[in-house]
Amino acid sequence: MITLKEALKLSKDELAKFKEELKTNIEANADINAYIDVHNIGEGVPIAIKDNIQVENWSVTSASNILQGYIAPYNATVIEKMLGAGLSPFGRTNMDEFAMGSTTESSFYGKTLNPHNKDCVPGGSSGGSAAAVAAGLAIAALGSDTGGSIRQPASFCGIVGMKPTYGRVSRYGLGAYASSLDQIGPMTQNVEDAAILYDIISGHDEKDSTSANKNDKVCDKLNPNRKLKIAVLPKHIQNASQDVKKAYELAITALKDAGHEIVERELMDAKFDISAYYITATAEATTNLARYDGIRYGNRVTGKNLEDTFIQTRSQGFGDEVKRRILLGNFVLSSGYYEAYYVKAQKTRHIIKEQYADIFKDVDLILSPVAPTTANKFGELSNPMEMYLSDLYTISVNLAGLPAISVPISKSSEGMPIGLQLIANAYDEQTLFDGALSLEKEIGYIA
Ligand code: GLN
Repeated sequence: MITLKEALKLSKDELAKFKEELKTNIEANADINAYIDVHNIGEGVPIAIKDNIQVENWSVTSASNILQGYIAPYNATVIEKMLGAGLSPFGRTNMDEFAMGSTTESSFYGKTLNPHNKDCVPGGSSGGSAAAVAAGLAIAALGSDTGGSIRQPASFCGIVGMKPTYGRVSRYGLGAYASSLDQIGPMTQNVEDAAILYDIISGHDEKDSTSANKNDKVCDKLNPNRKLKIAVLPKHIQNASQDVKKAYELAITALKDAGHEIVERELMDAKFDISAYYITATAEATTNLARYDGIRYGNRVTGKNLEDTFIQTRSQGFGDEVKRRILLGNFVLSSGYYEAYYVKAQKTRHIIKEQYADIFKDVDLILSPVAPTTANKFGELSNPMEMYLSDLYTISVNLAGLPAISVPISKSSEGMPIGLQLIANAYDEQTLFDGALSLEKEIGYIA
């Protein structure tokens, strides 16, 4: 598959021909179920779009039954920016319902297969985007990351996935899961393409009140030869599988060989991250999902009266995982438990942020696993608690609002890809991409 950088140089005719071939290829690989639908807007370079990003006149559903029939009336800011830069939204990709999950198994449209082994999940929630890029069915894709949903599927599918600093990329037009954690980001074949797409979609947006007033770009200054101080986490990686630990050792050696200074640091026990994340995310999700009442958007099940219409619509429209989180979110926000759960989670979040700030006082980047294992087999994470625990390496980054990028490092003994992430200080995407380029170059691994 050609890279985004190469595709941006194609003529109109070449692009039109490329898109026809791409469509044929997508049809031939329909069993992977990476795409829900293939549409094409504009004449630019085709980019796959996660099904929770508004594209005008598309059916956009967050892979939920409750949004069947909903047509997006406007473009998300990232889509407007893409159109302005010669890119064109090309198909919507499969995902976990409302981006809640780590496997893409909870989609209304059925599961997506991992192109490296079709008995394995592609990861989630942006599993369709990751599988599309990994299978050569997309040049690049957009995903969203609330607690790892870009980085973890990128790691499972052997591609690059980047989550920007909170506020860097406008959330206007992104179907909200947990508003204080969500960020849209690029999923690409290599680090340079991620930087190109990041530059295009980032920047201040007055339509998003949490958008940062920052417009600096990274591509012009990309430099893989900078010597950086990179922290490794010897205690933290103990929870990872042998395969992931091996990849971690490999990456440390590569970074040393590239001339970076390696230092050891520690993060607090991930059990605090998981509790703080699942309380915060479900509390916000409960509030965000209250708008799906059968009146304003998409699917309606008409009941005996208005209240019954709400109940029937929501009971039939939401899947089990979404309902579980609505219940959990209502519980942690309820008057008797608010202080004990929600307030405590916010205090924990503050401590998590401080521990990172402390490390970044004298360190440029942190090297961390993305997931404790390679891609699971289907059905293996059927216990929700087990699935939540598997997020241990990604969620603190969202709680602290930091940028991070998952880079493919190696493959397991069974041939499944393993990615590791670099984490940078807030708004230091330049150092993040410089370090990631250096790591990618030194590892020399092509998925
Ligand atoms: N797996 C996490 C969750 O289910 C993260 C999802 C995401 O980043 N959207 O909440």
